[in-house]
Amino acid sequence: MIEQVLPDIFKIEIPLPKNPLRATNSYFIRGNERNLLVDTGFNCEESRQAMVSALQELNVRMENTDLFITHLHSDHAGLLSFLVTPETTVWMSEPDAYVVGGGQESAHWKIFSRFLLNSGLIADGIENTIERHPGYRYAPERFHGFTTVEEGYVIKVGSYCFKCLETKGHTPGHICLYDQEKKLLLSGDHILDKITPNITLWQLGEDVLGNYLNSLDRIAALDVEVVLPGHRNIIHDCQGRINELKNHHQARLANVLDILGSQRLTGTQVAKQMKWDLTIKEWHDFPWGQKLFAVGEAMSHLYHLFQQGVLQITCDNDVFYFQKR
Ligand SMILES: [Zn+2]
Repeated sequence: MIEQVLPDIFKIEIPLPKNPLRATNSYFIRGNERNLLVDTGFNCEESRQAMVSALQELNVRMENTDLFITHLHSDHAGLLSFLVTPETTVWMSEPDAYVVGGGQESAHWKIFSRFLLNSGLIADGIENTIERHPGYRYAPERFHGFTTVEEGYVIKVGSYCFKCLETKGHTPGHICLYDQEKKLLLSGDHILDKITPNITLWQLGEDVLGNYLNSLDRIAALDVEVVLPGHRNIIHDCQGRINELKNHHQARLANVLDILGSQRLTGTQVAKQMKWDLTIKEWHDFPWGQKLFAVGEAMSHLYHLFQQGVLQITCDNDVFYFQKR
C-alpha cells in the first residue's frame, strides 16, 4: 500500500509474512536528479513483490535512487542486495553495516548461540537453532558496498535536507534522519507508535537500555512535528510518545526488581514472570521468536540494573544469574 504522507514523500507498506510486526514502512522520497528510498522489508518473496509493484506504481528506477538503511535488522535491510544497482549509493552506519555486510555468515549470528546459553533459554528447553530466527532467515545476501554515515552526515534529496542522528539502543548503530527546517524525523525503529521497540541484550558488555534511554533524550531535545516511523502509524506527538516509552521502561525495571526479590535468577526465569503485552498468557505457549525477544528484553533490563550497581552477576556453566547486591 502506498500513501503520500508529505510533499514528495511516499510511505510504502511492505508486508512481513507471519510476523507480529505485520509490515515495515519504507519511505520513498522523490528528488530532482536522485531519489531516496529508506528501509526495505525482509529478503522474502512477499516483501519483494510488494516493493517491486510499489516502485512500478511510483515509476521509480533504482538507477536514479539511493538507499538509506536505518539499522541492521532484516525487516529494514533485507532487500538491499536485491534493490541495489551499480549506480545506487547505500548509506548505513558503520557498526550496523558491519553486521549486515556479513549476511548469514556474520559474527552477529555466532554470538546468538552464546546468548541462548547465557540467558538460560537452552536450560529452559529451547532448541539451539538459528534457522528459525526471522532476522537470519530473511537477511540480505552478503554486501560490502556501503557508504558509511555517522553523526551529522547530511543527505539532501529534493527540498529535504536530512541530518544523520546516532540513536543507538535498538541496534548498536541505529540512525534517525532529521530535517530541522521541516521539523521532520524519520525514526526507523527508535520511536514507534503503539508498539515499544525491542531493546535486547545479546552479550554482556554494553548497556543497551541505557544507550536507548539516552538516545530518546537526544530526540526529546529536538523540535519535531512529524515522525515517520519504521512500523505502524505516523506520530504527531513526538514528545508525548517519548515520555510513554521512558515510562514503559521505568515500569519494566521496577517489575524486574520485584520479580527478583531476594532470588538469584537467569534472564529466562525473569522473562517468564514479566508482564508482556501479548494475547498468549502462558510462557509455555509463547512462539519461539517471542521467547527470544522477551528474554533479550529481560536481559537488557537486568544488565542496566547491574550497570547502575543495583544487581550483581554470577555465572554457572555459562549461564548468567542476576541477584540484588
Ligand atoms: Zn523493524
